Amino acid sequence: MSIDLNGRLALVTGASRGIGYFLALELAKAGAHVIAVARTVGGLEELDDEIRKQGGSATLVPLDLTDFPALDRLGGSIHERWGKLDIMVANAGVLGTISPIGHVEAKTFDKVMNINVTSTWRLIRSVDPLLRSSDAGRAIVLSSGVAHTARAFWGPYAASKAAVEVMARSWADETKNSALRVNSVNPGATRTAMRAQAMPGEDPDSLPHPHDVAKKIVALADPALTLTGKLFDVPKDRFLDYHLPD
Ligand code: NDP
Repeated sequence: MSIDLNGRLALVTGASRGIGYFLALELAKAGAHVIAVARTVGGLEELDDEIRKQGGSATLVPLDLTDFPALDRLGGSIHERWGKLDIMVANAGVLGTISPIGHVEAKTFDKVMNINVTSTWRLIRSVDPLLRSSDAGRAIVLSSGVAHTARAFWGPYAASKAAVEVMARSWADETKNSALRVNSVNPGATRTAMRAQAMPGEDPDSLPHPHDVAKKIVALADPALTLTGKLFDVPKDRFLDYHLPD
């Protein structure tokens, strides 16, 4: 069963590659106009070409998410241009270095927290009024299994994912009486650049393709979705299979 997002406006961070690229593509295929955010212009342009090929449309926003003042302005710019926002996917993330927690450099820790946590909060703050005004506002925050399991050497990344997940849950509770639905999702191990960095010895072909993972996550953008404040798990959650595009 596919989702109808015609007339909807969706913002996706980290849309230049990996899971975010295919999430943006799937949202556009479902009818949404996509605001695609990332630093790599080439990746964004590739996405734009692919979206057009599939009959969709996108606006590219080359932006470093650590440019916090720019994030503060983003909500206002979206309001000025479109007067609304229906879907926000906080997908961009970095792994940092895999090392004993006592050896992590301060600049690495700060980078992971700034991109994975602080930028997500700044983005939420910037677009919260727009999402609340939508008759079917949807926010999707990318978490990770390591937010819940002990994994040696992944400390800063794991802490950052636990932080955004809890932040999403708090936001969901604040907005539970509105039309806004806020959920987190663990995509599970996925064949992307980040996973290759984390597990260099792993055979990428043994992992699900980001396109297949994105097809499931897009269910959380469905205007008919009623659940909020939940954590979904792509490898385990059958709920996400229900909406798979035809
Ligand atoms: P990738 O490394 O493939 O892609 C990360 C994306 O984030 C890129 O588009 C990158 O764009 C963007 N990004 C990173 N830093 C910045 C920045 N400073 N400003 C703007 N954009 C930035 O990652 P995945 O697709 O694997 O991961 C997507 C999400 O899923 C992440 O939140 C990750 O933590 C989560 N996840 C992934 C898993 C996996 O196995 N792949 C497992 C569990 C969770 P650019 O470099 O162009 O700026």
